[in-house]
Amino acid sequence: MLKTLVRRIEVAESAAVGRLKFSEDCICFPAKEPAVFFSDEEQETAYRVKCPLHGDRFQKHYHLFRPAWLRERQAMAWKNRDAQYKKAWLASDLPAPENGMPPMNADEARETI
Ligand SMILES: [Zn+2]
Repeated sequence: MLKTLVRRIEVAESAAVGRLKFSEDCICFPAKEPAVFFSDEEQETAYRVKCPLHGDRFQKHYHLFRPAWLRERQAMAWKNRDAQYKKAWLASDLPAPENGMPPMNADEARETI
């Protein structure tokens, strides 16, 4: 009986994780939709902004190679992003991907040719 109750609580908790509402003051990136940055500078800029409730808003990653086409895809996907993701991104002082993508650097431009 107790095992069943514990199991039911575990299932309910795991189901609730995906539906958690963020506090109005929270500017963290949602765990289910991690931030995608295109340069170390972008990531650093976003990382310097801390959530007033939780501190660090995401886990930093070593910069991975990001092809130029992924940048375009990000811009197209922006309108379908989670509201919390958009709020976290815009709180980072980074331009919205649809409004003004940072210019490609010379290496990226060469890859598209
Ligand atoms: Zn937060």
